[in-house]
Amino acid sequence: MGALRSACRFYFSTSAKITMANFRFIDIGINLTDSMFRGVYRGTQKHEDDFPQVIERALKVGVQKFIITGGSLEDSREALRLAQTRGNITPCGITAALRPHSNVCVCVCVEGFFSTVGCHPTRCSEFDSLGSDQYLSSLLDLSLSDTQKVVAVGECGLDFDRLEFCPRETQLKYFELQFDLAEETRLPMFLHCRNSHTDFLDIMKRNRDRCVGGVVHSFDGTRQDAAALIDLDLYIGINGCSLKTAENLEVMKSIPSDRLMIETDAPWCGIKNTHAGAKMIRSSFPTKKKWETGHCVKDRNEPCHIIQVLEVLAAVRDEDPLDLSETIHDNTTRLFFKNSS
Ligand SMILES: [Zn+2]
Repeated sequence: MGALRSACRFYFSTSAKITMANFRFIDIGINLTDSMFRGVYRGTQKHEDDFPQVIERALKVGVQKFIITGGSLEDSREALRLAQTRGNITPCGITAALRPHSNVCVCVCVEGFFSTVGCHPTRCSEFDSLGSDQYLSSLLDLSLSDTQKVVAVGECGLDFDRLEFCPRETQLKYFELQFDLAEETRLPMFLHCRNSHTDFLDIMKRNRDRCVGGVVHSFDGTRQDAAALIDLDLYIGINGCSLKTAENLEVMKSIPSDRLMIETDAPWCGIKNTHAGAKMIRSSFPTKKKWETGHCVKDRNEPCHIIQVLEVLAAVRDEDPLDLSETIHDNTTRLFFKNSS
């Protein structure tokens, strides 16, 4: 136990020294249950499980909270399980162990993992195959099972770019049904809208009174689309997929800062060199094409890269990054963590 205690102290003092500026980030969309963070790509173990390293890199740039996306009933169960691992008291008395099976205690001083519960538009056929009443009530039970850790209903919405995974009518039906969850739980919504703005807006308008609020994540729409969502008192979530083109960047200038949130959607949606926003990135992380310990892997986005989303946004909007990050942090806290200090 004494050894554990000193291991933790060492970790804290090390990480404190290399914390960048005073950024405080909340990654509102992070797919931490994805097997890529365990070194598994398309079912094949390509490198060792480096999950703790991914989290350590994120903590060092100032990510304090991670909202782990649930994309289906089973996925939401897994997301919540992962969120709950951080609530464990370790032998050293500090909450949360990253390596519960290791005798080396790698702790973090925040209970920083949270989750959403819901069903992604491309997975909505699961409502039909498992029985929609049963599926919905299982989602509801899960979202009420841990009110500290489940902070949103979602990911839900519409995705007409990927109708091959789930037909349009099924998506429409079960997006609307998930407002039952929002109404019952009084949780905000984590929303997805891809190539479906008109239908999304119709459903949102019809049901707006049934939810306390929400954020449309991975936003890649027009200035008018953003304005319509803001009219409904929703927030706009920005990640690498929102910063691909010069037109995307123009839209970024039009969103009021009190409506903005940022995210990585990692391991997806990184800012690629070909993206319009790439030239505004200031920070860099040691990255290898082939995995090496202590490095990011090319084409696997990570929560530490959230700082790059901020850098691009701040540059486009001609704002101070630290000021903007604080505004975004406040927005996010207002929606998802209004009961926490
Ligand atoms: Zn999404």
